Amino acid sequence: MSKFWWVNQGRTYTRELDLGIAWAPLLTAKGGKQHHWDRMDLVQVGDVVVHYAEGQIRSVSRVLTTSHQASNPHSDGDWAQVGRELKLSYVVLDVALPLSKLPEAMRRGNSGYGSPFDKYGAVNMGYFFDLADEVGIWVMEEAGLVADKDDVLYDAPPSGESQSYETVIVVGPDGEVTVKTRAEHHKLKALLFKGQKEADCALCGKTLPVSLLITAHIKQRAQCSKSERIDQNVVMAACVLGCDSLYEKGFVSVDSDGVLIAGPRNATATALIEHIGVLTGKSVLGFGAHNEKYFAWHRSAHSEIKMK
Ligand SMILES: [Zn+2]
Repeated sequence: MSKFWWVNQGRTYTRELDLGIAWAPLLTAKGGKQHHWDRMDLVQVGDVVVHYAEGQIRSVSRVLTTSHQASNPHSDGDWAQVGRELKLSYVVLDVALPLSKLPEAMRRGNSGYGSPFDKYGAVNMGYFFDLADEVGIWVMEEAGLVADKDDVLYDAPPSGESQSYETVIVVGPDGEVTVKTRAEHHKLKALLFKGQKEADCALCGKTLPVSLLITAHIKQRAQCSKSERIDQNVVMAACVLGCDSLYEKGFVSVDSDGVLIAGPRNATATALIEHIGVLTGKSVLGFGAHNEKYFAWHRSAHSEIKMK
């Protein structure tokens, strides 16, 4: 089970974001300890940090390493040269959340020693704080970083690929909170459906609830380059009433004019031939120069399979 933390970064936010770290001195200039620095030593890999700077929650991050000694990354300031750092995988929020959006009652209800909030709900002075699950979950929900049930989730991003993955929370049936990682799929889905309840299947044109539409790869994901994988033009909405499977298996494809055609794979079952017959000749929704190359890949890939 993961834990939530809160960090007040102020003007150090941008630099620490760039470096993918949080950093604090070991001791004050007079040799004293600070609880809001020492707390970093309690952080575990996989925990989640909420990043606050200049009145707004700006990012959340997943912890990649425990605290270790590191030199001061900030050129200005009066801090010691030796400190401790955590390596973090930041997810910058699309829209920063002002503190005022975080319900005051929740802030006041989670105040006390070690909390980022005082009894009036204001933010305490200091760097690194414990954050109650209730507040952490609220932030993740507000930022849209809660997993959907059809999300593909990982316990940790494959090494070196962390940039196209983001931190999400999963609340189990017993209420236990775990933190996982979600691939680029979610962003593509959000861009495709833009929060609508209904949308059109690109292939048959039917308007359907989004729950019956798949964020379908026009070019098979496994064959995409890294940049193609995060290209929003690589996906289309395809319905589970048949279009997604027919396209994926190559029973239908899209020609260079954006018209749905039968094949390359041959249908032999009568019911399937009839069904495909209804679909062919339709103009594919959203077809254009931006995605033609992906449809072309699909035609040729399935033609090759057919030849074998
Ligand atoms: Zn359809």
